[in-house]
Amino acid sequence: MAIEEFKFIRPGEVRVRIAPAPTGFLHIGLARTALFNYLFAKKYQGSFILRIEDTDVERSDPRFEKDILENLKWLGIEWSEGPDIGGKFGPYRQSERLEIYAKYIEKFLNDNLAYHCFCSEEELEARRQYLMSVGQPPLYNGKCRQLSSEQTQKLLALGEKSIIRFKAPVKKIAFKDLLRGEIEFDADLIGDFAIAKDLATPLYNLAVVVDDFEMKISHIIRGEDHIPNTPKQILLQRALHFPQPEYLHLPLILGQDRSKLSKRHGAIAISDYKKAGYLAEAFINFMAFLGWNPGGEREIYSMPSLIKEFSIERIQKGGAIFNVKRLDFLNGFYIRQKSPEKLTEMCLLYLIEEGLVVPTFKSEQYPPAYGGMEITQMYKIPETREEVSLDYIQKIVTIYQERLKKLSEISELTDFFFKDKLEYDKELLRWKEMGDREIKDSLIRVEKIISKIKPEDFNKENLEKEIMPEAEKMGDRGYLLWPFRAALSGKKASAGPFEIAEILGKKKVLRRIKEAKSKF
Ligand code: GLU
Repeated sequence: MAIEEFKFIRPGEVRVRIAPAPTGFLHIGLARTALFNYLFAKKYQGSFILRIEDTDVERSDPRFEKDILENLKWLGIEWSEGPDIGGKFGPYRQSERLEIYAKYIEKFLNDNLAYHCFCSEEELEARRQYLMSVGQPPLYNGKCRQLSSEQTQKLLALGEKSIIRFKAPVKKIAFKDLLRGEIEFDADLIGDFAIAKDLATPLYNLAVVVDDFEMKISHIIRGEDHIPNTPKQILLQRALHFPQPEYLHLPLILGQDRSKLSKRHGAIAISDYKKAGYLAEAFINFMAFLGWNPGGEREIYSMPSLIKEFSIERIQKGGAIFNVKRLDFLNGFYIRQKSPEKLTEMCLLYLIEEGLVVPTFKSEQYPPAYGGMEITQMYKIPETREEVSLDYIQKIVTIYQERLKKLSEISELTDFFFKDKLEYDKELLRWKEMGDREIKDSLIRVEKIISKIKPEDFNKENLEKEIMPEAEKMGDRGYLLWPFRAALSGKKASAGPFEIAEILGKKKVLRRIKEAKSKF
């Protein structure tokens, strides 16, 4: 079995890479491929390399390259050679390697392994359409293969447009996928494929083969969608007498309905997940399970434990289902692991963005250290014009630590702490079938108890001690606690009333009760 071979991998021999085209933001498919390559490299003390495939000048954009690098770093997937840090086999951007490809394209032409094809796009398209209409594979018919070198030179001298095609040998071509076993292709079904537009413009299959060879890549781990490219790449390797790397094609990532993952299923940019307040640790844990399963019950894996446990024997062939609920569950778990200080720092970004709090120093002073913001000790609440300390904000964040699924939820959950007056419908104050009069009475009862508590004793323990017995007396505690909690938060769901009350302080609590009463 192919898998057996992994037992013979010697530490330090593995060199793997991802080779993204900078034509879009870092997305889940690429990030997952990056993670599996990274884990494999780390497991065998090998190297993980980042190469940018930017030969498609029109679609490539440095902005996307920046996004890919930035977000891989955010995830903690670090490369040891790449466009930003260089390395022994650089440059690591294809656009900077054109001379290398030109050398090989020339070799293909000189060795009669490739030829210039002068067929026009229209001609090719018409033929493709015809072949498909008669149920044949739409392959190039090799028309220009027959041109003599004199004919070719003449056409080139006349400035006729051409591309360079590889003379694909007609035979079966098989390769061993480390996950899927033997995969066989009929070379008849490949045809003479294009390897370059001209000497200075290589196409994907050629550039990738040259780079993987020059960069001494040992294993190519990439998405299943690349299986049809593999026989073409192997043919080129053989023509150039390159050694063949090992291949492993990862299962596709599918939506919950098992269709191809799209935006609708949550296939948004990694930076969007980051903005929504997913933690890198949660994302890594989540992605590891997209196509891999260590078996057993354990669900929580940090990067170091993934490196330890990762094995390609446990990669699955079938599609990996993307389940956002699982991501939320993991994110909630990692949020609960944060220290209150750290979690507060992370949540502050969102509170500030929503305008609920403002650090009390000028925005020009923000250093780039923490997402462009420094953790300052004092904050202004614009709506109430109060100054509060970081500790105060930490208290608020802490009572929501158990509940948070993503950091961005913090603003909506806690906004009532930063508001002067709450806006809600009086119906919110109603518990079960309580009448208006009963609601008001209930609020008055709480108000009376609270008025007696001294400001210095105004904490959740004392509040609970004083209010709970009253609530119990009513049979259903909701009669007392619900209107109270709703009056303080203006929300259907929130943290418990005692915790909220302690943070708001006696004065505000009494004011909110009064405002609630005034609705009846
Ligand atoms: N540029 C290709 C991609 O992003 C690389 C494929 C490969 O790994 O060979 O899909």
